Amino acid sequence: MKRLMLPPQAAKGFTMTASTTSSTGAELEQRVNFGGNQRWYARVLRPTSEAELLQILARHGGSTVKALGSGHSWSSIGADTDIALDMSAFAGVEPVTADASVVRVGAGCRLQDLLDRLHAMSDRTLPTLGAITKQTISGAIATGTHGSGRPSLSHFVVRLCAAVFDPDTGAPVIKEFTEGPELLAARCGLGCLGIVVSVDLPTVPKYLVAETTRKCSSLADAQALFAKNPLTNFLWLPYTWTVTAFERRVAQERTQSPGQRLKALFFRLFTFVMLDVVFHLLVIAARKFGRAGIKLLFRIVPNTMPTNRTRVDESTQVLTFKHDLFRHEEMELFVAERHLGRATEFLQAAVEAFSQAGSPALATLRAQVREAGLSDDVDGFAGSYVHHYPLFFRRVPPEETMVSMGASIDEPVYSISIFTYAPPGRRASYYTFCSLVARVLLKRVGARPHWGKHFPLEHADIAPLYPRLEEFRALCRRYDRAGMFRNGYSFRVLGLGRQGG
Ligand SMILES: Cc1cc2nc3c(=O)[nH]c(=O)nc-3n(C[C@H](O)[C@H](O)[C@H](O)COP(=O)(O)OP(=O)(O)OC[C@H]3O[C@@H](n4cnc5c(N)ncnc54)[C@H](O)[C@@H]3O)c2cc1C
Repeated sequence: MKRLMLPPQAAKGFTMTASTTSSTGAELEQRVNFGGNQRWYARVLRPTSEAELLQILARHGGSTVKALGSGHSWSSIGADTDIALDMSAFAGVEPVTADASVVRVGAGCRLQDLLDRLHAMSDRTLPTLGAITKQTISGAIATGTHGSGRPSLSHFVVRLCAAVFDPDTGAPVIKEFTEGPELLAARCGLGCLGIVVSVDLPTVPKYLVAETTRKCSSLADAQALFAKNPLTNFLWLPYTWTVTAFERRVAQERTQSPGQRLKALFFRLFTFVMLDVVFHLLVIAARKFGRAGIKLLFRIVPNTMPTNRTRVDESTQVLTFKHDLFRHEEMELFVAERHLGRATEFLQAAVEAFSQAGSPALATLRAQVREAGLSDDVDGFAGSYVHHYPLFFRRVPPEETMVSMGASIDEPVYSISIFTYAPPGRRASYYTFCSLVARVLLKRVGARPHWGKHFPLEHADIAPLYPRLEEFRALCRRYDRAGMFRNGYSFRVLGLGRQGG
């Protein structure tokens, strides 16, 4: 088996703000995730070979271990272990086939590095992308990272190599997951199915994407766009309840003239300045003026967007944006297509009712909370939280994994993203809002939260949502009897404790 090694380097994205020593004298580093909402101390070890990785696992039986990705999860999925493995030495990219139609990627490789190297070696690219390219490949697939119009990255993994514990001897070994239920589980392993060393991914010929910004008259209008333009996503603006869609499809042409490239560059610059920077600065400023400030902003914004103009550019440029420029937090819920209407009906009532005392939406909220079988004592919520960012919708077709958010559902799912730009430490009311929304939508439409984002539910809540969760848990126990790859998140969310729990 080839190794995918690069010189070790500190895992970027996480900030390391302090260090201390443990009771055994080991140096502990403080890790802080992108959102600033997870902080923990761990002993950070940096294996540089598979043999060294196996030695670490053998030597530290009794400790808990997780690999560090780039720290772009908001949930505690990768936090709170005794040992954190910095996998940045495993970051190579090699073609498996002569034409690079399949590539082997080292677990610690960032998506942007992967794209850069893939583009340097071939005319091919990744089959799908989420909103940013800062994550590591192993972190991205561990939580089912997805974009719109295509299944998640996890779905595409054809082979995965990980350090696990041999089910018979209990010794750490390198295992290849290549087929059957084991591959389905490993594709989105939630950090519990071994320390990933490398991943094989198919690639596709590079393509251009055509994007047209449209004002839609309703959510149904925006949904209708997906039939011809499957890569579409759309924004639903609170308080004005208007819809702006980014209608997207693979462009017919594969190359561009110099004039077309110049136009593409202009749109890139415009999108960066207006959407990535100015819009976000305005949201952060408008938050301070409460509901009225946000409502005014959302009334103005759709009228400043270049609607009905088509931009054509490389897929990597159109499908991603610089969403990591400003620190924020997100909860994302996945809802089967047939339930989207019931989900949005509740969401609108919740956003309105929370945003002002005496809101007329409070009665609707109360009725729907009661219908979900929860306590309908909701009066105290009125005026407690002003949601200040557009609700963001993407559509994900069925995918073949065991437990990614689109798994075992034989129709497309819509993901609904709920962002806050409140600073860490001032997000209590956002968390209360998310908790109610997640709980009601769980009962109302079986909504599944993204594993890597704010996750207000527990194992008992989500177990009925995933038909193959028990099979997944059994595989985790098979390859990690002692529970070394588990943390508080694994216990709370997956019901996987230490020692065969
Ligand atoms: C600004 C921003 C934008 C985002 N956009 C999207 C989006 O468009 N779509 C989407 O679906 N998600 C999105 N996310 C969420 C993000 O893609 C996921 O949370 C992803 O898991 C983060 O990858 P990471 O490399 O940072 O991993 P981390 O967050 O560091 O780790 C995630 C999990 O992977 C495990 N892990 C990492 N490496 C290994 C390994 N080698 N072996 C075993 N386990 C490992 C960790 O232990 C942990 O359990 C976004 C997040 C941010 C901050």
